[in-house]
Amino acid sequence: QEGKNRYRLFDSAHNAAMVNQHERLDRIRKALDQNEFLLHYQPKVNMRTGKVIGAEALIRWQSPECGLVGPNEFLPAIESHILSIEVGEWVIGTALCQISAWKKLGLDIPVSVNISALQLQSEDFATRLAELLAAFPEVAPSSLELEVLETSAIGDVLQVSETMLACIELGVNFALDDFGTGYSSLSHLRRLPASLIKIDQTFVRDMLADPDDLAIVESVVVLSKSFKRGVIAEGVESIEHGIALLQLGCELAQGYGIARPMIARDIPTWAADWQPDDSWRGYCL
Ligand code: C2E
Ligand code: MG
Ligand code: MG
Ligand code: MG
Repeated sequence: QEGKNRYRLFDSAHNAAMVNQHERLDRIRKALDQNEFLLHYQPKVNMRTGKVIGAEALIRWQSPECGLVGPNEFLPAIESHILSIEVGEWVIGTALCQISAWKKLGLDIPVSVNISALQLQSEDFATRLAELLAAFPEVAPSSLELEVLETSAIGDVLQVSETMLACIELGVNFALDDFGTGYSSLSHLRRLPASLIKIDQTFVRDMLADPDDLAIVESVVVLSKSFKRGVIAEGVESIEHGIALLQLGCELAQGYGIARPMIARDIPTWAADWQPDDSWRGYCL
């Protein structure tokens, strides 16, 4: 078909993978068009003061065929495709709408959203964010936090930090997600203008059993303070995790031990009822 003296090997495995990928993209596009995505919210708290400091929006796909699907099952398929930017904008818009709805109920619950690398690296990210914020004038930009992975900055740290600064100009805050798992966490910490560091849950999970993980958690807490950034532990699964973190000087926490991600409607009652554990009292930092 390509003319004489040409040959091409037909790689059926590659072809099948392409068809698969094509189908996957189609299904996700359809999911977006048919409004099958939803956000769950996981509370973030101050263990010492007992204050609910916000909630992280986590995307799910309510698929008619497969039921509730988690982000690790479908986001990787679109991570390098522009569709991920559209999904990302849907997430920001939906989160802003939710902040606004809570505000109407008299609740001030800042929301953090996860931003993909492609989204953060797209040239007009700050402009699009400004447009989304303008659609919700009742929402203070400071009640939106963007969680970025340090790996998002691989390639062009300068461009990424400039984009972040442009967004900070708009009033939003940044958090460095899964901190400590990347290749050059320290240089990213120094160069990326994030006001909050999220200690990766793998270190927190094992900190009570593994002295190395405990040392990492402790170092990240100290480092965050030296760099005048806030610090929060993710993956706090037990009361004991909370005690250990408070002893290290980390008072902000998120994890199954505090609350699992839940539907938006459940957040107000949860927030009204939540109290820190008694054993957490008495830690003055
Ligand atoms: P992440 O941003 O680090 O979010 C934390 C993940 O850990 C969530 O999983 C959460 O449900 C889970 N988790 C929270 N506390 C605990 C705990 O105590 N123990 C354990 N074992 N797990 C805990 P989820 O919702 O499956 O999300 C996985 C990842 O998918 C997120 O990691 C984030 O990187 C990504 N993601 C989620 N929503 C979005 C989104 O809207 N946009 C983008 N770009 N990525 C998203
Ligand atoms: Mg996150
Ligand atoms: Mg994380
Ligand atoms: Mg993660």
